[in-house]
Amino acid sequence: MMKELWDRASDALRDKIGNNNHTAWIAPLDLTGIDSDEARITTPTRFISDWVQRHYAEAIRDALNEAGAAVGRLSFQVSATARTATSRKSAAAQTAASPRSAAEPEMSAPLDSRFTFDNFVVGKPNELAHAAARRVAEGGPVTFNPLFLYGGVGLGKTHLMHAIASEVRARRPESRVLYLSAEQFMYRFVQALRERTVMDFKEIFRTVEVLMVDDVQFIAGKESTQEEFFHTFNALVDQGKQIVISADRAPGEIKDLEDRIKSRLQCGLVVDLHPTDYELRLGILQSKTDAFRAQYSGLCIEPGVLEFLAHRITSNVRVLEGALQRLFAFASLVGRTIDMELTQDCLADILRASDRKLSIEDIQRRVAEHYNIKLADLVGQKRVRTIARPRQVAMYLAKQMTTRSLPEIGRRFGGRDHTTIMHGVRKIEELCSDDHGLAEDVLLLRRALEA
Ligand code: ADP
Ligand code: MG
Repeated sequence: MMKELWDRASDALRDKIGNNNHTAWIAPLDLTGIDSDEARITTPTRFISDWVQRHYAEAIRDALNEAGAAVGRLSFQVSATARTATSRKSAAAQTAASPRSAAEPEMSAPLDSRFTFDNFVVGKPNELAHAAARRVAEGGPVTFNPLFLYGGVGLGKTHLMHAIASEVRARRPESRVLYLSAEQFMYRFVQALRERTVMDFKEIFRTVEVLMVDDVQFIAGKESTQEEFFHTFNALVDQGKQIVISADRAPGEIKDLEDRIKSRLQCGLVVDLHPTDYELRLGILQSKTDAFRAQYSGLCIEPGVLEFLAHRITSNVRVLEGALQRLFAFASLVGRTIDMELTQDCLADILRASDRKLSIEDIQRRVAEHYNIKLADLVGQKRVRTIARPRQVAMYLAKQMTTRSLPEIGRRFGGRDHTTIMHGVRKIEELCSDDHGLAEDVLLLRRALEA
């Protein structure tokens, strides 16, 4: 009875959270009973128990209710006997037979099966990071250690890390790959301290082939975690094991990180993921659209919509993806083609938010800086070429990168007429096709402003 109920709920959870997450977190669980509205669940370790409670409690409750139980609360018990043979077997199969393989799925965070190299769209801003990640995933002699990937939020660091881990596991099932966030590293370490299992902790971390730590900036200011991380790091480097690290900024810019760690992190290859450019965003949108089309069959998307989104949503890939997802869901709900009108309605809030981000003043300031002229001159009345041209560049960018109307732009350029703005915009458009220097300036400015 309990078993059937749990099997049904467990199957539903697999669909919901994916195979990898399921194998790592749900398969090791057992439902032992339901008292009034409380479901009792046993887990093999406290780590799994804590993780599941933090990440899957709601999903489990929903799945149980959908499977026919009336469950309001969950309680978790750690029980050694709950290590069911099947979950152990599949866990061991994942990381291949080795004495420690059972401990590893507990240690390694689950991988998102969508984050593969195949699904990663490569463009100028991320090509170096992508190439380096590929190189590490292919294996062979360790040429740069660590590989340090950094960049702003939502630019694909975690995606690349998961892609490396999956690829290594697929190519060399016998090699042990440990992927986790710095937060999880700390959490595991603190737990080991508390449970007096630091030796086991060290042993596991120091015997992996590839160690990947995501969002390492998290350990800034956390002294004993840094200390442990430093020793783990050195031990692995000494053995010639590959380390891959990500952070939201360059090693030298992480505050409250010990200098010796900073310099260690800088020893390998440090590559950054640049803010996306228009082409990359469009490429990502196209690739995601293909995936959504398969999911929502029969939905049409009008030409121009993806271009519009790539133009307007410049913050990060996660927002871009979310926007597209919402569009498809909404269009399928109302049974309409995805055209500009639907897009504007459905994404009004996101579009407004990305509008706010870039003001005409931001553009003017950046352009003035770029050409080394005064902001007051840029919006002023001087007609010398060295000022007039940058002014037109700023007008052009204001027209292209904001939704302000020509009269509005005119007002912010010292009260100029809208025809003057239009003239400036056209002038730059014309010049850009012959004047490579100017075209390059415009491109650079655009990139900087999109960052
Ligand atoms: P980060 O870890 O840098 O904050 P993520 O790796 O979590 O960012 O990426 C955010 C989302 O954007 C993910 O869903 C990821 O798949 C997607 N994404 C980012 N860059 C790309 C890319 N180049 N191609 C395809 N998807 C991408
Ligand atoms: Mg991330």
